Amino acid sequence: MAWHIETKCIQEGWQPKNGEARVVPVYQSTTFKYESAQAMGECFDLKSSSFFYTRLGNPTTDAVERKVAALEGGVGALMTSAGMAASAFAVMNIARAGDHIISSAAVYGGTFNLFHKTLRELGIDVTFVSPTADDAALEAAFRPNTRLVFGETLSNPSLDVLDISRFAAAAHRHGVPLIVDNTFPTPINCRPFEFGADIVVHSTSKYLDGHAVSLGGMIVDSGRFDWMAHADKFPGLTTPDESYHGLVYARDFGNAGYIVKCRTHLMRDFGSAPSPENAFLLSLGIDTLHLRMQRHCENALAVARFLQQQPQVTWVKFPHLPGDPQYKLATKYMPHGGSGVISFGVRGGRDAACRLMNNLKLAAIATHVADLRTCLLHPASTTHRQMTDEQLAECGVKPELIRLSVGIEHVQDIIDDLKNGLALL
Ligand SMILES: *Cc1c(COP(=O)(O)O)cnc(C)c1O
Repeated sequence: MAWHIETKCIQEGWQPKNGEARVVPVYQSTTFKYESAQAMGECFDLKSSSFFYTRLGNPTTDAVERKVAALEGGVGALMTSAGMAASAFAVMNIARAGDHIISSAAVYGGTFNLFHKTLRELGIDVTFVSPTADDAALEAAFRPNTRLVFGETLSNPSLDVLDISRFAAAAHRHGVPLIVDNTFPTPINCRPFEFGADIVVHSTSKYLDGHAVSLGGMIVDSGRFDWMAHADKFPGLTTPDESYHGLVYARDFGNAGYIVKCRTHLMRDFGSAPSPENAFLLSLGIDTLHLRMQRHCENALAVARFLQQQPQVTWVKFPHLPGDPQYKLATKYMPHGGSGVISFGVRGGRDAACRLMNNLKLAAIATHVADLRTCLLHPASTTHRQMTDEQLAECGVKPELIRLSVGIEHVQDIIDDLKNGLALL
C-alpha cells in the first residue's frame, strides 16, 4: 500500500537491515573499499550500483535522494551542493551549445543570471516568457532547436503561480520536457509530476532543510519523458557515450536515463557534490517537513489577512488570499497552501520600508527565506540596491516591496511585532 506523504517524510530513504543504525549514519568517507580489482572495475563501467567515490554517490546522500524522489513521485534523484547547481545541471544535461531554452521570466534572481548571462556565454540561448503567457505567446517562443521549458511553481520573490499543466502541454507539443523548480511549495504542497512536469529541481536550502543550516539542491526525474521518441533532439541521452564504452543512457537505464546521466556525466565532470553531513542534516529536516509546511502556511495566511487590513500597507501579494488574481490557480495546484512567503508594500516607499524593517524585533533582517524563523528582506535596499526605481519596475520589484518569510513561531507574536513596527512608522 502506498504511504501518505507525511509517512514518506519520516520513513522513506533509509530502511535499515537487521542490526543496522535506525537513523541514517553520516558516512563521512570520500571512498569505499573493494575485495577485488574486478568488483571495483564494474563500478567504473556503471555495471554495479555500489558506492566507490563520494563525488558520484554516498550512502547518506543516497538515502536523502531516495526520500525526495519518493516525496515527488520520481524514479530517481541527484543531490547537489546547492540549488544553483541543480538548476544548472538540469538544463545542461539536455541542452548544449547551439540549443535554445524557454524560461518563465518569474524565476529566482540567481537562476535568471544563470540563464540570461552564463548559459548564453556557453552558447545556449534563452527566451523569457511571462509566467502568465497565453498559449499563443508560449507557442511563439518555440524554435526548432528548443530543448526544454523551465518555470517555478511559486516564484521567488514575485510569488507568481505557474500554470504547470498548460506549460507542460506546450512543451510536450514540441517534444521537449518541462522542468519545474518546486522550492517554495515543496512536495508537501505541490507535486508537479502529477500535473505533467517531467523534471523537478529544488533548492533544499529553503523549506526542505527548513532550519537554515545547510545548502543543497536536488534534481528529481519523473521517468515519464520518452527521450527515444525525440532522439534527434537529445543526442546526449540517445547516442553512445564514449566515456562509458558507448552506453546509451535512455536505452540502457530504462526510464531513469536522464538522472543517471546527470550523476555519471555532469557530477563526474563538474563535481558539485554535497557533503554527507549536509545530506544528513537535510534528511533530518525533511523528517518534520509536513508539520512545518502546514504551520508556515497557516501562519502566513493569518499574517497576510492582518497586513491587508493595515492603513500603512498599500498592497499584499499572497496567492492563497481569497481575492488574489491567482487564487484559483494557486488552489488548483496547491490546495493546502503554497508557502510562508508574503510580499507587501508600505505607504512611503523605499524609506518607509527600511524604517519598518528596523522597527521589527522578532522578524530578523536576513538574505534567507523559507526557514522556521520569521525573517524579511527589502530587495530595493539590498539584493537590488544598485537599481533605480525605474529599473526596479522593469523587473517587477516595487521600491517599497518587502519579502516576508513567515516562520513557525506563535502567529500572534509575529502579528504583534508587525503591529508595533507599523505603529512606529
Ligand atoms: C534559493 C533558490 C535557488 C538557489 O538555491 P541555492 O541553494 O541558494 O543555490 C533556486 N531556486 C529558488 C526558487 C530559490 O529560492
